[in-house]
Amino acid sequence: MRGRGFHGVFEHERREGQEFVVDVDLVVDLAPAGASDDLTDTVNYGEVGAAVLARIEGDPFDLIERLADIIASDALSHSEVDEVTVTVHKPQAPVGVPFGDVTVRVTRRRDPVPVVVAVGANLPHGLARPEDTVASALESLTHHPAIRVVATSAAFDTAPVGGPADQPDYVNAVVLARTTLSPTSLLRQLHAVEASFDRRREVRWGARTLDLDLVQYGDPAGGTDVVSDRERLTLPHPRAHERGFVLVPWLDADPGAVLRVGADVVPVAELLAPLDTSDVRRRPDAPTEEV
Ligand code: ATP
Ligand code: MG
Ligand code: MG
Repeated sequence: MRGRGFHGVFEHERREGQEFVVDVDLVVDLAPAGASDDLTDTVNYGEVGAAVLARIEGDPFDLIERLADIIASDALSHSEVDEVTVTVHKPQAPVGVPFGDVTVRVTRRRDPVPVVVAVGANLPHGLARPEDTVASALESLTHHPAIRVVATSAAFDTAPVGGPADQPDYVNAVVLARTTLSPTSLLRQLHAVEASFDRRREVRWGARTLDLDLVQYGDPAGGTDVVSDRERLTLPHPRAHERGFVLVPWLDADPGAVLRVGADVVPVAELLAPLDTSDVRRRPDAPTEEV
């Protein structure tokens, strides 16, 4: 992107402006868009470009280091972007010696973001019982280099909600983690773990070896949670706020948990108050684990 900006420490730079050229490299998982041919599954390059131009032409900064940094954080606000490299060129910079170009380049990943993942299973996988699968799934998450598990709930036996009535009870748990993955990449990892337990999607809300749902990405108390109404990734999870089998384990892992419900940020304890949770029972043999 190329534009006229007024960045610089000299008065004449602020007055007259000069040309800035910005290269943006985004690291994005292109597999979903490759499969769907749907623009909402990838980054809209036009939107990114317009945002960069607005920064080039917008409020002036003293340093192109600052300009690069702001453009990088704008790019990371797209939920598909895992990493960004921004190069700002200032080819007419007042350097005082003959030169070809002046550039700064910054590479940024997200700071680790708090996330909440709900785990459920009600079919055996080989010799593994649902409770074993839930424990192994938690274990797989702890081994991912971009995910750090902060706390896990006890496991709970729960009655099936929705879907065919004749399915076995579930084992549910909730894991709190921090991740540098984008929301899209995190969901992809969760799906990969499901796939490693041969998760099949045949009947909606039907029995399954493993379900990993992303309940929340970011911290609603700090206003940093990601809200998305896309079908492939809806955030916060649209049904979490009414599900005892999510909220009871979540409260077990984090007594201070809060969830965004529309415009409100509501303590999970408050969401649970009106719900009948008699069919969400802590498993007697499941100790609370802190990893
Ligand atoms: P529910 O979402 O009501 O718990 P489910 O977990 O059985 O139902 P799945 O078959 O696991 O549903 O997922 C169906 C689709 O939901 C997936 O293809 C996934 O892309 C999409 N999805 C949207 N938002 C989320 C989310 N926050 N977490 C997990 N999957 C999501
Ligand atoms: Mg689910
Ligand atoms: Mg799911």
